[in-house]
Amino acid sequence: MADLDPPLFDPAAFRLTPRQAAIVEKARHLGQSVFSPRAAAYDREARFPTENYRDLHEAGLLGICIPEAQGGLGADYQTYAIAAAEIGRYCGATALSWNMHVCSTLWSGPLVDDLDLDPQERRAHAARRTAHYARIVRDGAIYSQPFSEGGPAAAGAAAFETRAVPAAGGWIVSGRKIFASLSGHADYYGILCTEAAEGERASRRNTLYLAVPARAEGVSVTGDWDPLGMRGTVSRTLLFDGVFVPQDAALMPRGVYVQAASRWPHMFLTLSPTYVGLAQAAYDFTIRYLRGEVPGTPPVRRRHFPTKQIAVAEMRIKLEQMKALWFQAVTEARPNPSKEQVLRAYAAQYSTMETAHDIARLAIRTCGGQAMLRTLPLERIFRDSRCGALMLPWTAELCLDRIGREALYEPGETDEAAG
Ligand SMILES: Cc1cc2nc3c(=O)[nH]c(=O)nc-3n(C[C@H](O)[C@H](O)[C@H](O)COP(=O)(O)OP(=O)(O)OC[C@H]3O[C@@H](n4cnc5c(N)ncnc54)[C@H](O)[C@@H]3O)c2cc1C
Repeated sequence: MADLDPPLFDPAAFRLTPRQAAIVEKARHLGQSVFSPRAAAYDREARFPTENYRDLHEAGLLGICIPEAQGGLGADYQTYAIAAAEIGRYCGATALSWNMHVCSTLWSGPLVDDLDLDPQERRAHAARRTAHYARIVRDGAIYSQPFSEGGPAAAGAAAFETRAVPAAGGWIVSGRKIFASLSGHADYYGILCTEAAEGERASRRNTLYLAVPARAEGVSVTGDWDPLGMRGTVSRTLLFDGVFVPQDAALMPRGVYVQAASRWPHMFLTLSPTYVGLAQAAYDFTIRYLRGEVPGTPPVRRRHFPTKQIAVAEMRIKLEQMKALWFQAVTEARPNPSKEQVLRAYAAQYSTMETAHDIARLAIRTCGGQAMLRTLPLERIFRDSRCGALMLPWTAELCLDRIGREALYEPGETDEAAG
């Protein structure tokens, strides 16, 4: 086997513990040696990376954020984020969809542990999540996170239209989710929906996070899937038509999602690691291509041109800036972050999503026409990297909105009050 690429974040330089470095190394090894050769076919056929998920299960990575005492690897937020960036380097669609799966354990685990719950509720939640974790560790169950509905809810601006009406032993769920990554392939769809009795007004405070069994009666997948990028995520439309969902399906206790969204905002930064990996992949490709080291390509003899050297330098500077900001932001993930930390998290998300595509664009311009053929990974990286800025709730536009507003106004402040 070829030598492993150097790590995205050198453990000594970035002060990772040996335990963190070992988990990240496991992800990098799998990414480079197994996922990278498969990535082109998943992309071409817009097919879900089923084989990769089997390997993630075998390597223990489906349970990366599940506590060791419950059979997982016990990774914290930062360790997961760096491992996900390593996977994104080799297969963007696997990393992005894996993020949806891992968040079901991260959000129901360390995030909930950091929030306010009464002791009885906490005990009931611990029992429920133990059952979810056992399915993942033991059976390789895959969870997804279909939140988007095409309306304002996924941006945090309104209650989810998907409804959960209380019923004996659980809820009756009805609604529709668009862009549901892993549709048709996940075993449980971790939906956000609004708990409301018939005729009751929907409120964001009543958001529930429920793991709907994919095989439950009334669940269906619809629409085709032939997008620009991230084709292996298979993000089709999900329909829920009067689906009975039992009480033990709750991934967070009542009311906790809204508390998490305001007190643990870095929960929304977890879509970014994939794109850190894609940025590194575009840069690595460019270096290898200009050095004549990409298998199957002719020796290009271009690296002596100053324009090539300057382009590579620009790409390196953008990559270093993005990685430094991103690493700092993921290191600051915690409950009740300061205003500075929240602004930095938005800036990291914006910078990662925009810079990844910018580096991929520069890579294509710098390497030239022969490098953008479909036989090489660069054009896939270019298309995949375009998708990052569109991911709600922290799209590139919404990050700009929030940074501008929150930098200029303190919470509750209005122009009238300020005079
Ligand atoms: C490859 C891929 C995989 C995905 N996987 C998932 C998934 O697994 N689960 C999931 O829930 N979603 C997923 N999404 C969906 C994604 O998070 C967005 O919900 C989706 O891209 C929104 O598309 P839209 O056209 O409805 O955008 P719109 O909601 O119409 O937004 C368009 C743009 O308008 C801006 N905008 C939106 N709302 C506001 C507002 N309130 N104020 C100001 N500006 C606003 C934003 O910048 C946004 O980019 C995925 C998307 C892609 C591309």
